Amino acid sequence: MSFNSLDLAFSDDALHRYSRHILLPEVGASGQATLRDSSVLIIGAGGLGSPVALYLAAAGIGRIGIVDNDNVELSNLQRQIIFGTNDVGHGKAERAGSRLAVLNPEIEIVTHSLRVGSENLPSLVSTYDLVCDGSDNFATRYAVADSCWASGKTLVSGAVQRFEGTVSTFAPATGGPCYRCLYSDADENEALSCGQAGIFGAVTGVIGTLMATEALKEILSLGRGLSGRVLVWNALDAVFRSFDLPVDPECSCCSRGKV
Ligand SMILES: [Zn+2]
Repeated sequence: MSFNSLDLAFSDDALHRYSRHILLPEVGASGQATLRDSSVLIIGAGGLGSPVALYLAAAGIGRIGIVDNDNVELSNLQRQIIFGTNDVGHGKAERAGSRLAVLNPEIEIVTHSLRVGSENLPSLVSTYDLVCDGSDNFATRYAVADSCWASGKTLVSGAVQRFEGTVSTFAPATGGPCYRCLYSDADENEALSCGQAGIFGAVTGVIGTLMATEALKEILSLGRGLSGRVLVWNALDAVFRSFDLPVDPECSCCSRGKV
């Protein structure tokens, strides 16, 4: 993010589009310019990635990358609200990008139709300011988290299953905790797939929208973020809880070499 030389000049259309942001003293024109000069990489155009992408595009994030290697399936439409029935059978990244371009033609959308792993993530992550991970398996999540930590990029991570979801933020600038402090011993082959456990569709909307909110807060340095905390929401109880996440002194990622 280039905070040094923010260009506060907006077109009349942009002033109109973002007027409800600009009205907020905590955002204002300078905050909106910061959003315009920022970039976010979204891992997974699924149930979480859909609201993340829609809200970040609507908010005016200047460059949004979307990573997904799958095609849209009919069973996705119960929760992956960025897609329509006409998108079934087509590539998720490309169709999500088309939807975002309609929503906000003033921003740049970059689609990455590829499967991410430790071999291609470092170069990808390095070209964005912040990463939102809504992927559905631990192998991808570990690879994303490790790449973000190594490159100093803040990661906003969300997960859902059945009627519950969690959100947390991992900010290398704070020194920890990191994603592996939260999930130190998960089986990398373990899936978080909605296809196996089921998912109440609207839960992904709540958690994805929380992820978008936290990403915007991080970029704007607003309020209290979720670094060092995990927010848990249970839809059946209609209760939010948060708990502190300490640094694991044995963590193989953020504590390596420090103990
Ligand atoms: Zn750690």
